Amino acid sequence: MDLGIKGKTAIVCGGSKGLGRGSAEKLAEAGVAIVLNARTEAPLLEAAKEISQKYGVDVTPVAADVTTPEGRAKLLEAAPVVDILVNNAGGPPPGVWSDWGETEWQAAIRANMLTPIHLITAVLPGMIERRWGRIVNITSGSVKAPIPALGLSGAARSGLTGFVAGTSRQVAHHGVTINNLLPGQHETSRIESLMNNEAKKKGISVDQAREAAYAANPAGRFGTTEEFGAACAFLCSAYAGYIVGQNILLDGGAINATF
Ligand code: NAP
Repeated sequence: MDLGIKGKTAIVCGGSKGLGRGSAEKLAEAGVAIVLNARTEAPLLEAAKEISQKYGVDVTPVAADVTTPEGRAKLLEAAPVVDILVNNAGGPPPGVWSDWGETEWQAAIRANMLTPIHLITAVLPGMIERRWGRIVNITSGSVKAPIPALGLSGAARSGLTGFVAGTSRQVAHHGVTINNLLPGQHETSRIESLMNNEAKKKGISVDQAREAAYAANPAGRFGTTEEFGAACAFLCSAYAGYIVGQNILLDGGAINATF
């Protein structure tokens, strides 16, 4: 399917691996030039080269910590015109409520709430002026149903979700959409470390932890970064202009709810 976005430019944050990489790949496949961000230079350069060679689009790597003002400035400088913004960064560490003090809360809120809000605020005026824009925030299923060990993640991302709910409805008439994608469990290095923690906690092998997680999911498996990226690219497509302020869960049906 031609997504109707060939020739547009996207910033993809946290894009050298995992869900960000999957999103960058599917946008590139649709003919979108990518400004690709992550902190670690070597894997970022490798990812940029691979994506560019595979899909024949420009991919500009920007090695920067997107949670810092300097990192965001570097990223925005590399993309004077931003048609598409995919917000993403690493998630906060797991734990329990008693582990989290001022420092941990500030870090989670900065990374998973304020960083995407700052980038949205920076790109919206240009998108509004050009009367077209697509913003997708990678959040988490923990916004919709609590995962107690990921309380920092769920809480900070819920703040972003509240901002998006109101703002998306203020900008939709300019041809700009903002939506959130909520991953459940997808095959990435983040899930690998969560499985390792689970195995340690329960005194079982990582394979056993995986089997238990697969068995608990109606789809019987984890999602792929390709599936995730395709959903992201569709939300960024010419055909998604009427999808506004939504929270789309990609979890194999794991959250047991009618709506
Ligand atoms: P991942 O495989 O670990 O990839 C994270 C990517 O983001 C990497 O490219 C990483 O590269 C980059 N990154 C991390 N922190 C960054 C920062 N401060 N600035 C710029 N780039 C940064 O993680 P993932 O599984 O794709 O997860 C992506 C997001 O979705 C996370 O917030 C995660 O919590 C959330 N999520 C994932 C799942 C899942 O099933 N995978 C489920 C729910 C929520 P560098 O480390 O080199 O910067």
